[in-house]
Amino acid sequence: MYLILFGAPGAGKGTQAKIISDKYGFEHISTGDILRESVRKGTPLGKKAHEIMSSGQLLPDDIMIGIIREKLSEPQLRDGFILDGFPRTVSQAEALDKLFGELNFGVGAVLVFQVDEEALVERLARRRACKNCNNIFSNNEIANLTECPKCGAQYSFFQRPDDDESVIRKRLKIFNDTTLPVVKYYDGLTDLHYINGLQPINVVSKLISDIVDELKERV
Ligand code: AMP
Repeated sequence: MYLILFGAPGAGKGTQAKIISDKYGFEHISTGDILRESVRKGTPLGKKAHEIMSSGQLLPDDIMIGIIREKLSEPQLRDGFILDGFPRTVSQAEALDKLFGELNFGVGAVLVFQVDEEALVERLARRRACKNCNNIFSNNEIANLTECPKCGAQYSFFQRPDDDESVIRKRLKIFNDTTLPVVKYYDGLTDLHYINGLQPINVVSKLISDIVDELKERV
């Protein structure tokens, strides 16, 4: 079983992917996290990705499709997985369809998180990440804290370079121009659900859990 979480940067995909993968034992595949890990390790991919990510652009499709192809061949994915941040272009969606045709993952759904653009800019500009565990917090959640509430790392909070307001605006434009057409691609092709991403985190998780429970009945 698989879920594809789709939505603009800051719509809550990462937060929900973590909650739902913990609850159901699914693997959380975040292409952004995979790239940030490569940047941290200084691999050839990381060196290439760093500049592109910091400027808010997308990495080339062939690189991203290669990463996903490799990831999807891992055996633990048979228990279920969540894709967070992929596909981001129609070419990526087409390549993913092909891979799904080769590797049978059973039932799945695409969840589209909808959030008003100004709310996204505000949310992204306030968010901070933990260098150690990648969890995301709002800056008032961690005000006065020196220790990450999730992993205990000290002084590990930072603002991602791509969460700077000017970069956020660029990322949203790319989302509208290049990524949004993916929803049209999926319309009629797969089980598509629209979710209001401005609702409280637990309300969104409950909606997603209901979808997963319903999918499980179809297995
Ligand atoms: P995210 O954490 O999902 O917002 O991703 C952070 C950045 O990684 C994006 O702004 C892109 O530069 C890059 N990235 C992540 N996933 C993809 C993808 N599927 N295609 C192209 N670039 C990606």
